[in-house]
Amino acid sequence: MNEKMSNSENTIAGHQLERITAHSAEVGKGFIVRRAVPTKARRMVGAWCFLDHVGPADFDAGHGLNVGPHPHIGLQTFTWMIEGEILHRDSLGFEQIIRPGQVNLMTAGNGIAHAEESLNDDAGRVHITQLWIALPEAERHRAPDFKHYPDLPIIESDGFKITLLVGTAFNFTAPTHVYSPMVGMDFKTDAGARTNLELNPAFEHAVLCLSGMMNVEGELIEPGTLLYLGLDRNTIALSCDSAARLLLIGGEPFKENILMWWNFVARTPAEIIQASEDWNNHRHFPEVESSPLKRLLAPDPSGLHLKT
Ligand code: MN
Repeated sequence: MNEKMSNSENTIAGHQLERITAHSAEVGKGFIVRRAVPTKARRMVGAWCFLDHVGPADFDAGHGLNVGPHPHIGLQTFTWMIEGEILHRDSLGFEQIIRPGQVNLMTAGNGIAHAEESLNDDAGRVHITQLWIALPEAERHRAPDFKHYPDLPIIESDGFKITLLVGTAFNFTAPTHVYSPMVGMDFKTDAGARTNLELNPAFEHAVLCLSGMMNVEGELIEPGTLLYLGLDRNTIALSCDSAARLLLIGGEPFKENILMWWNFVARTPAEIIQASEDWNNHRHFPEVESSPLKRLLAPDPSGLHLKT
C-alpha cells in the first residue's frame, strides 16, 4: 500500500517541521487518491486519523466517483467538497447532495453504513477531501448520526478566502459537531498572498496543499505533500506567488491508541474482526436501502496483526 514515501525532518527556531509524502490509493473505480494520513511517519494529527485528497480529476460519462455501501465504526467521516457534486446515502435513511463549499459529517459511533455516488452518468469533474476523525472512548459507542453543513464561516483576510471547517478561529466558531478539541480551515487565493495565522499552541497542526504551491514557514509544498508542524506554535507564515489552496488541520494530541483497519476505528483486533464478520454476514449494520451500488465486502481480517 505504501508505493512511495519519503520524509525529512528539520527544526527551525525550535519548531518541528516534517515533510510527509502522501501515498496513492484507489477509491471507487479508477480514482487515484493521495492518502496523506495515516502514513508510517504520522498516524494522526489531533483526532484527525485519515486524510484522502481526490482530484481535481475529470471523468468520462459513466465513470464518476461511486463507492458502494460500506460500514464504519468509531469515527466521524468529514467530507469537504471543492469541485463537483456527490450524493451521500446512509443506513439511517439520509440522502444528501454535497456541493462545493459544503461539509458532510457522518458520525459512525457504534455502526453505520453509507454509499457515495456521482449524481448522474454525465462526464464531470471532482475535487474533494475526505477525512476521518477518531471518536474518544466516551463517544465511540454512541448512536450514529449524519449532518450536512451548507454554510460555514468565511473570513476574508490578507488576500485569502478562509473557510472555517471545524473549531474556532478569527472569533468565529464552525457549527460542525465534533467530540475532541480540534480545528480545520481551508485557505484559497486566486493570486499571490501572504499572511501570518494565529494558532493554538496546545494543538499539533499539519497543512496539505490542495492546488498551486504554498510556502509554509519557508517550506514550499505542492499537492501530495503534508507538512506536519508539531505542537507549541503560536503563529505560522503562509504565502504564495499565484493561485493556491491549502487545508490546515490540527487538534489536541489524541490520548488513546486507536486500531484502524479498513473502514473501522477501534481499540482491539477482536472488535475489528467482529465488525468485519457482522458486516459481511448482514448482521448489526442496517443496509443502505436506497443505494443501487454493489455492497463492498470487508477483506479477510486475519492479517490484522500485520497492519498495526
Ligand atoms: Mn465511507
